[in-house]
Amino acid sequence: MVMPDLAALVPVAAIEVPSFQAVPWGPLALTTGLCLAIAACIIATGWVQRTGVALGADEAGRWNLIFGVIGLVLLAGCVTRVPWVVPAVAPCLAVAGMLFIRAKDAGLPEGRRVLAKGGLRNLAAELRPHVAPWTKGAADRGPPRSLKEQVTDLIGGWRRRLTGTTTKTQSGKRQGKAVASAEAFSFLKKDGTVVMTISPGGKSETRVSPHVLKAQQLLQSIIRANAATLSFEPADNRYDVKAHARGSDKSLEKIGSDEARGVMATLKVMADMAGTDADTSRQGTFGVLLRGVRYQIDVESTGPATAERMLLRLKRADAAQHQRGLESLGFRPKVLAQLREAVSRPYGMLLVVGPSGTGRTTTLYAALRELDARKRKIMTVESPVQQPLDDIVQIEVDLAGGATVASVLQMVMRKDPDVVMVGDLDDRKTCEIAMQAALTGHFVFATFEARDTIDALTRLLDLGVEPMLVQTAVTAILAQRLARRLCPKCKVPCEPPEALVRKFNLKPGAIKHIYKEKGCDACGQTGFHGVVPVHELLVMNDQIRKLITAKPSARDLKAAAVLSGTLTMQIDGLTKVVHGDTTVNEILRVTG
Ligand SMILES: [Zn+2]
Repeated sequence: MVMPDLAALVPVAAIEVPSFQAVPWGPLALTTGLCLAIAACIIATGWVQRTGVALGADEAGRWNLIFGVIGLVLLAGCVTRVPWVVPAVAPCLAVAGMLFIRAKDAGLPEGRRVLAKGGLRNLAAELRPHVAPWTKGAADRGPPRSLKEQVTDLIGGWRRRLTGTTTKTQSGKRQGKAVASAEAFSFLKKDGTVVMTISPGGKSETRVSPHVLKAQQLLQSIIRANAATLSFEPADNRYDVKAHARGSDKSLEKIGSDEARGVMATLKVMADMAGTDADTSRQGTFGVLLRGVRYQIDVESTGPATAERMLLRLKRADAAQHQRGLESLGFRPKVLAQLREAVSRPYGMLLVVGPSGTGRTTTLYAALRELDARKRKIMTVESPVQQPLDDIVQIEVDLAGGATVASVLQMVMRKDPDVVMVGDLDDRKTCEIAMQAALTGHFVFATFEARDTIDALTRLLDLGVEPMLVQTAVTAILAQRLARRLCPKCKVPCEPPEALVRKFNLKPGAIKHIYKEKGCDACGQTGFHGVVPVHELLVMNDQIRKLITAKPSARDLKAAAVLSGTLTMQIDGLTKVVHGDTTVNEILRVTG
């Protein structure tokens, strides 16, 4: 077959092929081009990294890799001056950018999408912290990073992606930075007094040495990785820093001997080990506080000063308290049985309500621990993750980075978990996604801000959630409060007040006495020590479901709830008063 001669069909002069040979690649143009390409890469990868969080870690990682590789090819093309690289890669970049924006948009509310009305403005707002980190809009997005930091991070990131090593220094630094941007970190003495607090962004009230910051960054990363130990081991003129977590040893990074000695000296000061014998084994303890959780860190150092080894063992200072199941949370036996029955169902929803700070999350975590995480796929959506749970995928919502609880929850539901926990249902959209999930074969645990169980129902309806959804999705609602527990060492008996006797319909003399607070050294003269939870559990039944359709009044709902055996928090609290756990005033204070 003879190919037709192209030149014969089309006049040659009509085809204009852009020739890159013709571009004047003088030294100035080359430098400018390179600088622009590097700047574009830094901006693009930074933007993908920050905004991609809404897509979940796996997918965000894939996008980062795609943009990283494109950027690398582009740079290589500029440096080697291969003429086809720029025209070939530019369309790839545009297509990848569009696909990334489309994927990201799917999880965002209408007003924040790029491919929607006002989209360019949204895009500009997303890009601003990367293009002009010094502007106002960028200020609340974590500490600005210097160009040098960004370039080294970028190179480190690419090296990591290309070589597949995931735990080199750069990732450690980046992780430390990301963590530091969200939470304060305190070093504590063994007895719990705060030595130093490093606020988000690595700032402290006083000047902090780089060794302290390094120690903070390492401790924060092992806490985050749920690791049990951190070790410093000398290895040819350097130190290998390793984390050990559930059967796996992971080298975090290798640091220079001087830096390692500085960090170890800092840790020894924290643990009150400084000045002890150099050649023997030394031990000490200090603590850290992160996200309101206290960790105890036991330090052990061995070997001579020139080749010192150090092992840090980390444990939650209040581990026993936080590993508890539902049975240890002070439920009445009947409520506990009802609650267990509710959460063992294959689908439905348990709402835990109350103001924040009333132990809602502790209850939800305890409920999650009752489930077998190896048999059921359990995921959580939290902001922030309050404590690590074994075998459960916990996803933190990066609110500052533009993600919303609703968008992350939607992403999580695509992974089809059996059980999902949502930190807070605070808007209609989140409620509806969670309730749809509860209707389609998932069990949903969630917290919701409401005074009590009835208030939760009316608030859901007031938010505009379809009554049909509330009716069918919600299995049970648990309201709770924390009352102060009477100090067992100093509580004193007293006459039960008339009102209490009447409320319980008691025969005079049935309760000989209740207790009131006094104060002693053990309780800091307050008379109270610890807390007693007070509960109210409403299990949905036909009667209440029927009421929900017909715009119910709180009074009707309450009547139906009481009829079905729900005891109010006040009654539950008064039973605890009768048991001598707390006082009448305390119950009135928390339930009033
Ligand atoms: Zn006391």
